[in-house]
Amino acid sequence: MVHVATTIAPVQDGQLTEQIHDDLAQTALVPTEHLVDAAYITPARVQRAQQAHGITLLGPIVADHSQQAKSGKGFGKSAFTIDWDLRQATCPRGKTSTPARTLRIKGHEYLQFRFAKADCLACPDRHPCTASATRPRSIALLPRPLHEIQVQNRLDQKTEQWQRRYAIRAGIEATLSQAVRSNGLRRTRYRGLAKTHVQHVLTAIACNLTRTADWIAETPRGRTRSSRFHTLCTAAVG
Ligand code: SF4
Repeated sequence: MVHVATTIAPVQDGQLTEQIHDDLAQTALVPTEHLVDAAYITPARVQRAQQAHGITLLGPIVADHSQQAKSGKGFGKSAFTIDWDLRQATCPRGKTSTPARTLRIKGHEYLQFRFAKADCLACPDRHPCTASATRPRSIALLPRPLHEIQVQNRLDQKTEQWQRRYAIRAGIEATLSQAVRSNGLRRTRYRGLAKTHVQHVLTAIACNLTRTADWIAETPRGRTRSSRFHTLCTAAVG
């Protein structure tokens, strides 16, 4: 463990990504690649990590949440072609949107592309394309640089090469388990963030020392535990 950040419970883990990178930069411990789970990665964080510190933030970006993409029946956002210079989208039926307007959703900037009501009401694909009986389809996309990061990341994360690279992140779960089970990380012994942070730093030092000692002594690694159900199934198949 090379860094410890402590925060209050309501702060989501991912919100500390930028602070962690800035802190690592101050101690010359910036990684070239930082593997994170989905909670820590957004297109904006990928961009910021690369631009501010040259870090490749590697993790799965959440899938398109739109009802069309989830059902697989309508046209997800990826089915639309975007002309960024004209700020216009073209739908799979070849209809073009009005120029995008900027809007903010949960504090983030998006571009909204709206299609003409007349086009959508007359379209044979209207029902799978939009759930609304009367309104036309519209899509909201991130600004171009972030949209392109999002699209590329979603494509990359489906490849075997990306998944093999990302698989090494699984090792962090054992580290977390050690900190929780052996060193009581789940509970703070103190009141206040400052003292709790000291506990976390000491816990990290303890884990690092234990691991170093185990490595020097060539202590065999623990076996991955299986549930009883999994053991039963494995025995039945075997
Ligand atoms: S409903 Fe509108 S946006 Fe969707 S495919 Fe038809 S014309 Fe295009």
